[in-house]
Amino acid sequence: MDGFSLSLTEVVCLGTSLGLTGIFYYVHKQNRKTVTKLENAPRISIDGKLKDLLNVTPGACLNYAVVEGTVKAVGEPLKSQCHKEISGVLQKFTIKEHRIVWSSFSRTWMDSERILHQRVNMVPFALVGSDQAAVKVQSPLQANGVFTEVINEKFHQASYGFGDLVGLYIIGEKSKGHLEIEEMLKVGTTLTGVGELTLETDGTLTLRPPSDNSQYFLSLADFESLRDEIETVAVWWKALAVVSALAGAAVLFWAGFRFYRTLQVRWEQERINAEFARLQAEAARQRANRGNAEGPHDEANGNDIQNVCVICLGEPRDCILLNCAHVCCCFVCYQALPQKKCPICRQDIVRVLPFYHA
Ligand SMILES: [Zn+2]
Ligand SMILES: [Zn+2]
Repeated sequence: MDGFSLSLTEVVCLGTSLGLTGIFYYVHKQNRKTVTKLENAPRISIDGKLKDLLNVTPGACLNYAVVEGTVKAVGEPLKSQCHKEISGVLQKFTIKEHRIVWSSFSRTWMDSERILHQRVNMVPFALVGSDQAAVKVQSPLQANGVFTEVINEKFHQASYGFGDLVGLYIIGEKSKGHLEIEEMLKVGTTLTGVGELTLETDGTLTLRPPSDNSQYFLSLADFESLRDEIETVAVWWKALAVVSALAGAAVLFWAGFRFYRTLQVRWEQERINAEFARLQAEAARQRANRGNAEGPHDEANGNDIQNVCVICLGEPRDCILLNCAHVCCCFVCYQALPQKKCPICRQDIVRVLPFYHA
């Protein structure tokens, strides 16, 4: 399309929106795939018959299965640091610093936090079902999903002297204090696990990250809630992809609209030119008819200095500008005017007609 163009900003916006749409759609597809895999995964109950089931399964392994059981430590469980009565199998300590940081972009103080320290303690554990059957859980830290509970949270307010405060304001950063968090996967919690279920040669049952890179899950929520959660996330990614695609479409629409406006101006100009040419030809014909009737006469109104175009100073003035009715330029110069305003009185030109001496 001749004349269709995009500004650099529009190209950047369009490229960004296309890229983001692609990324969001890809993440959405991955989430949908996970939901489908979860829906197709067999739900196995942990009981005395589980070993028999795996014995007759090829490779003594179920590639992707859902199990639910109660958490039990294989050896001695861990004790909470703050609540001695709570015992668990996985313990996470986090120390976060809460700060306010001056943002020169928004000209305000913004809350921000960063992890200063994190430590994980873990003991081997299993999911226990009925008949004392147990499935040992391997590599729990590789699992997605929420499977620990916050059992203690303590905030230590930072204290400063006046001098420190002035210094901190100059740096544009101020610590509000430290937050200590203790999380634990408690013994006796019911846990949903999704992964590869195997009967080892020594007769133990294990749940581990799937070898085909499907997502491994451990969750405090039941299976339905876990699936719904991932489905909701998938819907959100899809919505983001749609919004991003719409933003790209809006940029294209805007560029198209601008192009249509320039086309309209061009068509209007062509219409004016055609009308001018038609009127000029008609006037010439009328003059010729009159000339034939009256016989040859003197062309006294040639290019005398009063009659030349005020712009090019070469061609005769051959058009009348309306509504001001000034006769001051030739049609070629009129067409070349950067703004359609009379060069004499600066009034807007709404129409132009050929001008000739009778
Ligand atoms: Zn001229
Ligand atoms: Zn004028």
